[in-house]
Amino acid sequence: MSRFVGHGRDEVTPAAELIPVEAHLEAILAMLPHPEPIELRTADGLGLILAETATCATTLPASDNSAMDGYAVVAADLAATTREQPVRLAVTGEVAAGEAGALEVAPGTCVRIMTGAPVPPGADAVVPVELTMAEEDGAHVAFHLPARAGDNIRRAGEDLVPGLELVAAGRRLAPADVALLTAAGVTSVVCLPAPRVVVMSTGDELVPADREPGPGQVRDSNGPMLAAMVRATGGVPFVTGAVPDDRDALREAFESNLGHADLFVCTGGASAGTRDLLADVVAELGEAEAVSVAMRPGMPQIRGRIGSTPVIGLPGNPVSSYVSFEVFVRPAIRALQGRRDVHRPTVVARAVEPLTAPPHKRGYLRVRLARDGAAWTVRPTGAQGSHLITSIAQADGLAIVPESVTEVRVGDEVRVMLLVD
Ligand code: AMP
Ligand code: MG
Repeated sequence: MSRFVGHGRDEVTPAAELIPVEAHLEAILAMLPHPEPIELRTADGLGLILAETATCATTLPASDNSAMDGYAVVAADLAATTREQPVRLAVTGEVAAGEAGALEVAPGTCVRIMTGAPVPPGADAVVPVELTMAEEDGAHVAFHLPARAGDNIRRAGEDLVPGLELVAAGRRLAPADVALLTAAGVTSVVCLPAPRVVVMSTGDELVPADREPGPGQVRDSNGPMLAAMVRATGGVPFVTGAVPDDRDALREAFESNLGHADLFVCTGGASAGTRDLLADVVAELGEAEAVSVAMRPGMPQIRGRIGSTPVIGLPGNPVSSYVSFEVFVRPAIRALQGRRDVHRPTVVARAVEPLTAPPHKRGYLRVRLARDGAAWTVRPTGAQGSHLITSIAQADGLAIVPESVTEVRVGDEVRVMLLVD
């Protein structure tokens, strides 16, 4: 067990006691277990990382087949065809997609053929129906244009052959991959499963959304918010509901959820007194560390582990929770998914309103982005207090103001994390 005691309020924490954002993130990523691959039906693998390369065992198209509705012919029969002197061929039958086709095409004859139907033996070209004229008797058809061998025929094995690599290990399955694997007859895939994330709100003052808060009480909005963020990241959330600030209740909540948790994400208990409670309980069950991270919002953070299950503790203020999920939890969930691209994309934008940030800490400001010609511009969503949920709801980016900067003036450039999925 290792932990050091949490620090007090944001303003009074000496800069020397702050740890860099990267240090906390790296420590979190380093404590994540390696996910165990599972076998799933191919369609259920959508969005997941493939753990084993999928290889083709079949040929597609399975045989030469028609690319058009038309007539299967011997191309040589139409060598001398002109508009003035069309060639007439006897129609000996019809073959549709899905039919094995017992017919053969002898010189001087043709077979009516549908798209996808196997090309009958003897035929070496298909003439689209639009370029022919059927005769009234239905038994003959006239051709006005010459055909070349191979016209409108899809060749066997043009798409897939045995041994072809279909989807490489490490790739995230996209809808087109599901099509490719299914067409090749690959009915199951070995993937890294979506991480199961237990979201635990803590606080004596919290009531569920459907209860009217009494004096001093507040609705637990972090639980549903974090569950939504887990889901948007591709994890599977389990919400415990609000757990009181009580050792036994917290211990019981961890123990009863451990069996289905790949990761615990907790909020609350971040203020000086109660914060120790959460870190203490996690430390009792495993190990925990309470740290002050050089960022605002989101300074007080907890990281720990119960058995091999990582625990991340975020401050309870909704904005702090939101920002620290973006900075620490989202990358962790993506790493658990086996993704290498764990970070949000960023753009550089020009401030059209000033942004202020604290000294010695990285500021994450809730902003709105806009385009000005080829450039991005950025303005704050309004007041930036860490209790103001409106400030996150209106944001489509987080401006990242470096530790050494306290003021971004109008016209200055600032890096912005894009919050759009
Ligand atoms: P704490 O981190 O427990 O000190 O909480 C800081 C602030 O965030 C307090 O005003 C809490 O009431 C509020 N808060 C804590 N947890 C939640 C939650 N789950 N939903 C909404 N607000 C919360
Ligand atoms: Mg609390």
